[in-house]
Amino acid sequence: MKNLIDKLYKTQTLEKDEFIYLLENYNKETSEYLFSLARALSGKYFGNEVYTRGLIEFTNYCKNDCYYCGIRRSNKNVNRYRLTKEEILSCCETGYELGFRTFVLQGGEDGAFTDKAMVDIVKSIREGYPDCAITLSFGEKSYDQYLKYYEAGANRYLLRHETADEAHYSALHPDSLSLENRKECLRNLKKIGYQVGTGFMVGSPYQTTKCLAEDLLFIKELSPQMVGIGPFIPHKDTPFGSFPAGSKDLTLFLIGILRLMIPNGLLPSTTALGTIDPKGREAGILAGANVLMPNLSPIGVRKKYELYDNKICTGEEAAECNVCLRNRVASVGYNIVEKRGDFIGFEE
Ligand code: SAH
Repeated sequence: MKNLIDKLYKTQTLEKDEFIYLLENYNKETSEYLFSLARALSGKYFGNEVYTRGLIEFTNYCKNDCYYCGIRRSNKNVNRYRLTKEEILSCCETGYELGFRTFVLQGGEDGAFTDKAMVDIVKSIREGYPDCAITLSFGEKSYDQYLKYYEAGANRYLLRHETADEAHYSALHPDSLSLENRKECLRNLKKIGYQVGTGFMVGSPYQTTKCLAEDLLFIKELSPQMVGIGPFIPHKDTPFGSFPAGSKDLTLFLIGILRLMIPNGLLPSTTALGTIDPKGREAGILAGANVLMPNLSPIGVRKKYELYDNKICTGEEAAECNVCLRNRVASVGYNIVEKRGDFIGFEE
């Protein structure tokens, strides 16, 4: 067990069977060993700094019908909303004052935000906040569309692959969506020059350790700048409403593995992790994560962007969340910093 973790530390990858062995046999002691190596690496590259990204959930309309997601098209109980450009810019203004230097525009796949509209929004943020990074996360688009947003001033794109196993992908999504297209989008984003974040849910229905090993190997091959993982959490109005949530321990173990695989990578400790355990995000940092993505959405819409049940931080103002997070991070010996927190490649 320990020798496999040492091998991962040295070579930054493992064989599929070896990943499966680790995922099926880890325990408290081996996790602690993994986390200590992961912390040594995050310390080497980032010291005790934690980066934040202000998340602006700008639309909960979505044309897709992913079986796990609370804002899927078929969910008639969702109160749908779209933020106006002015509202989005006002979120940025609040965020900037609070020290955020990255804004993430996330939403469902909403045709009402045409390319023209998105380009206009991105350009306005770029002009208003030249020192900030702009991250987009609203699903699958064509190469040309991604290129337009990039040229308008976007720097990063988040698109989780969700699962790298074909059969599992089909179990989580309707036929209109394919793993092949998801991967193609990720390759296009990299080609254009975006810093790319991918990732997956831990403990999604029908997931096996083989699926997770495939996720890790796909991530190795793609070599993204950021990897976001969080536990699957059921949403009552979805087909997966009665499946159990993913495990905190396994999520943490995977964060540790990812830190060893991408020592200088950007790894968020996610809101989903903080939802299944009140100290989940702190534990994520201690397992090797170095990014937090607090909510900057207007308070009136937060409850409506419910991807899963009981999502945290839907009731507080951004400023309150900010103080709360700073204290949480400090409680485990780290510091939130006012930086863009770009990916820094190896110098060698
Ligand atoms: N429409 C965008 C943004 C999706 S929401 C896109 O397609 O990329 C961001 C992420 O939330 C998803 O990629 C998914 O991994 C996660 N998510 C969705 N439903 C979830 C659930 N029930 N539990 C945990 N995470 C979920």
